[in-house]
Amino acid sequence: MNLLEKLDAVAAARIAMLPEGIGAFGVPIEEVYSATEARIGDRRVLLLGTNNYLGLSFAPECIEAAHHALDAEGTGTTGSRMANGSYQGHRALEQEFADFYGCSAGIVFTTGYQANLGTISGLVGHGDTVLIDSDSHASIYDGCILSGAEIIRFKHNDTVDMEKRLRRLGDRTESTLIIIEGIYSMLGDQAPLAEIVNLKNKYSCTLLLDEAHSLGVLGETGQGLVEITGLQKEVDFITGTFSKSLCSIGGFCVSNHSQLDQLRYVSHPYIFTASPSPATIASARAALVLLREGKDLRKKLWQNCTQLYAYLNEAGYKLGPEPSPIIAAVLDNPKQALRIWQSLLENNIYVNLILPPAAPDGKSLIRCSVNAAHTTEQITYVGDIFSKLQDQIIEK
Ligand code: PMP
Repeated sequence: MNLLEKLDAVAAARIAMLPEGIGAFGVPIEEVYSATEARIGDRRVLLLGTNNYLGLSFAPECIEAAHHALDAEGTGTTGSRMANGSYQGHRALEQEFADFYGCSAGIVFTTGYQANLGTISGLVGHGDTVLIDSDSHASIYDGCILSGAEIIRFKHNDTVDMEKRLRRLGDRTESTLIIIEGIYSMLGDQAPLAEIVNLKNKYSCTLLLDEAHSLGVLGETGQGLVEITGLQKEVDFITGTFSKSLCSIGGFCVSNHSQLDQLRYVSHPYIFTASPSPATIASARAALVLLREGKDLRKKLWQNCTQLYAYLNEAGYKLGPEPSPIIAAVLDNPKQALRIWQSLLENNIYVNLILPPAAPDGKSLIRCSVNAAHTTEQITYVGDIFSKLQDQIIEK
């Protein structure tokens, strides 16, 4: 089989998964009306599949800041931070992230994906080890592959399995990086950070926490899992993205270790790519201010999360273990998931469809992302539709 035929085979397998010819992936959004509504085809839909957790995508403060940056600094930096792309806004945002987390320094990357790639591949290399949760995001897996370190996975959120693997490593734990996430993107569950910190200290490892989905969502000021657990000082490196609660694009890493700065000189995903545009940095900076002050937004977000989780739970869906802005209905097979996904769209609700191998344990997921801008009426409507669809599944 030549290279092109191999791609044909993969395409055929993908099409076979969508037997009714449903275009469930890469659905084009024709027009966006607000943080909760858009047009798909000729339908005005309720957006329940975005990572816009605080609903800030149309915040006037962010739009105004982005306009101002466009006018003042142009559309793009046209170069990397190392060459010609390090602007005042990048440095200001680095300082603002460091201050936000009470850390000595921060680095801004072009995407959240690159923040993980750059941080991981800068910290570990050949001869080192990464110990990662089996449900880790692709950016963590790819960062580990890029680094050349040995990759060891532990069972999702299972600290007993994690310790078994640490014991086996013997002296090598000192050159081991443990990587976890604040909220996991498939089932919306949180890492058991306190137990993991104990193990990290017991075995003298280094700990990296990706707060991509927990930034803005957890904690009094929205720092994430580190804040609700009070463990800011115990985590060595925190990464995250601007593309979710901050409604921009870019990523960051903060730390109290002075060695953080050295990543700028060794991380290819930092060095060999253009820096974020002035407008994306400006809107992220404005959003970070709103996020820090966003106690009321978080309150509303959590009301929505608990309300929808309760609806789906009562309707008999199998869900992740706790309410969260990510609420995933776990289904046994892709056909069931497809049917629900399509029926939701027919009822003007857009959610994410996640099929194997992207979903864990061979399951299929209907993943809803709740945000602070959803109204109680919208959440009630979604809950009612899900209840009706559950009846359909049972009958078939
Ligand atoms: N980390 C996690 C846990 C993520 O879910 C994502 C994106 N879904 C990223 C990193 C990458 O962020 P970005 O999309 O901003 O590149």
